[in-house]
Amino acid sequence: MTQQDTDEQINDGNDGFVVDTEDCEARELAHRERGTARPITVVGNPVLHKECKDVTEFDEKLAALIDDMFASQKAAEGVGLAANQIGVDLKVFVYDCPDDDGVRHTGVVVNPVLEELPADQRHLDESNEGCLSVPTAYAELGRPDYAVVSGQDAQGNPIKVRGTGYFARCLQHETDHLYGYLYIDRLSKRDRKDALRQMEEGTPRYETVPNA
Ligand SMILES: [Zn+2]
Repeated sequence: MTQQDTDEQINDGNDGFVVDTEDCEARELAHRERGTARPITVVGNPVLHKECKDVTEFDEKLAALIDDMFASQKAAEGVGLAANQIGVDLKVFVYDCPDDDGVRHTGVVVNPVLEELPADQRHLDESNEGCLSVPTAYAELGRPDYAVVSGQDAQGNPIKVRGTGYFARCLQHETDHLYGYLYIDRLSKRDRKDALRQMEEGTPRYETVPNA
């Protein structure tokens, strides 16, 4: 995302919500062509189980990290990726994910905070969820079907992102990562155990970081 794009995105009278549905193909491609895919950390790696550090420098290094994250997300066929999933202890996630209406959303959120929904807007959606850091496992998990995340873009401008359906699930899942939580941490003991068993039995289709 260029500075110019960003300015357009936040000044378009969209209630401060970023427009992340335009030029998805071109933006995603540009990021991943500049970046390098890195192996994915898996459950048990300490970087996944603690809160990541806030981003304070909105510089070239951050831009390069975001490019690598898009490249890694694509290589692993993910719809969202948090920085600690490639071993980087910083609050950044990227996404490329369809919503309830099949509309594609592509973007990045730095220092995300999930907004609390009023009780009357909390409708739980029970759907299957998976995670690149728990390869080959899936489990049903109830989550609100609408989510709003506030944070910053790659240049440090304040942004808000909202989503429905699968994309709402993605926004919650990725924000959780950056606070040290995996979706399996939200499962019952029994379902968590089952997910870990699925992981033991499967073979990921992408490169992972072996746990020490
Ligand atoms: Zn995940």
